[in-house]
Amino acid sequence: MVSGVFISSLLLFAGDPTDTLSSNTLFGEEVRQVAPLTELQLQQRADDFQKLLDEKGLVQIGDQVRPGTKEGGFTQPPDPMFDWTTPPHRNTIFLNFFGASMSPGTNAALNESPCLSGPLEYPGFGGTEAQAIALIEVFERLMEPYGIRIAYDEVPPPELPYAMVMMGGSPGILGLGNGVLGVSCSSDCGDMWWRDATFAFTDAINPNNSATLGTTALHEAAHAFGLAHIGDPSKVMNPFVGSANVTWAPTCVPYDDATGGINCQATHDEFCDGGAQNTDAELMAYFGANSPDMEAPTVAITTPADGVEVPTGGTVTIEVDVEDNHEGVGWKLVVDDGSQVQESVSFTFQRRWDLSNLAAGTYTARVEALDHDRNVGFDEVTIYVGVDAPETTGGDDGSSGASDSDSGSDSDSDSGTSGSGSGSDSDDSDSSTPSGSDTDGQATQDSSDDGGCSTAPRGTFGLGALMMLGFGLVRRRRD
Ligand SMILES: [Zn+2]
Repeated sequence: MVSGVFISSLLLFAGDPTDTLSSNTLFGEEVRQVAPLTELQLQQRADDFQKLLDEKGLVQIGDQVRPGTKEGGFTQPPDPMFDWTTPPHRNTIFLNFFGASMSPGTNAALNESPCLSGPLEYPGFGGTEAQAIALIEVFERLMEPYGIRIAYDEVPPPELPYAMVMMGGSPGILGLGNGVLGVSCSSDCGDMWWRDATFAFTDAINPNNSATLGTTALHEAAHAFGLAHIGDPSKVMNPFVGSANVTWAPTCVPYDDATGGINCQATHDEFCDGGAQNTDAELMAYFGANSPDMEAPTVAITTPADGVEVPTGGTVTIEVDVEDNHEGVGWKLVVDDGSQVQESVSFTFQRRWDLSNLAAGTYTARVEALDHDRNVGFDEVTIYVGVDAPETTGGDDGSSGASDSDSGSDSDSDSGTSGSGSGSDSDDSDSSTPSGSDTDGQATQDSSDDGGCSTAPRGTFGLGALMMLGFGLVRRRRD
């Protein structure tokens, strides 16, 4: 069993889980219902969770799961993995009241969480829409100073780098003991990885407790940014739920390690002299000050040139520049051969794809970027495979913003899938993604008709969180 000792004092008295009103839809979307677990199933979940911790060298201390030491504390990253001179990034927090079919991993857009040891049906919110809105208001009020957007009424598009809080269920579903109201299993200090999923167990208490539940959800999301527990009970990052109107802390507030270790100390030391955390300063460093963003990202496909001609069976390398007025922009490649549309979401901020073994036809390759105010920028090129380009479209002069004319000379790549070869008609956003593990050229089935929950290449993420953090780091420094 998981250490109830720590949690009992932690995030809250599990009050009275009263008759939760069950609505089937929220914000016009269906809410996933999951049958209550039997005692046997709960025990199995607890065993599985403990096994997950043991196998991965993790410890659960209260509402946090992180790499641990033999003594039972959190491992401290030796240095901040973050260059504080880089600009802050904007982000979106998606409060998921709908529930999801989840699996182990680190990508919120794929409904993944490192808290899981296997696939899991996670339930949605058990309360009413009015109760959900009360929780949302807590988020919106407390995040208002920062460059963070709150999403809740539909799943954000996968190309948008967003964090997610699952707003539903109870700790036993994940295998945790009673007594915690939420959990974060992410371990990136300084919000290096932008797609964390955390949990607020809204079934654990009466959903009328909007201040408590909203604050808990915010507290867990903030753990995933790398924030730790501090001692002042009037602050969001205090491990105990107390006052109703908690705030962030604009000064260095000493840690509260009564409930376990303090994570990311080297990062907090960047803002305080040790032993304390300035929550507001860290949030401002990660996300910047809030302001409206009316400026769309700019996208330029630098290769191939618009109208490029390629022999049947050939390969086209697509390279793109994406810029925006704020960090945090995400993008995807969309390839349309006239009968089928395939997408490859650039979860690792890749800027290059190889489309290989192309069947004869005319293709449109479009790279589309999205920022957190949902401004869209794009560029596209037409690719003629085994057919001549129309006379009016030259080989080199048709592409807006293209400056590098490289007509597919990187034809030795074998990592891409055919732009039109793997024909299937799956529109199911929960279905497994196309197989393959290469970063290049894995286009997926379009599912733009299901509210943007399109599937995406999964193989890329088999490398684990550190690898992805590495990608994030590369992107930040390069820009
Ligand atoms: Zn906590």
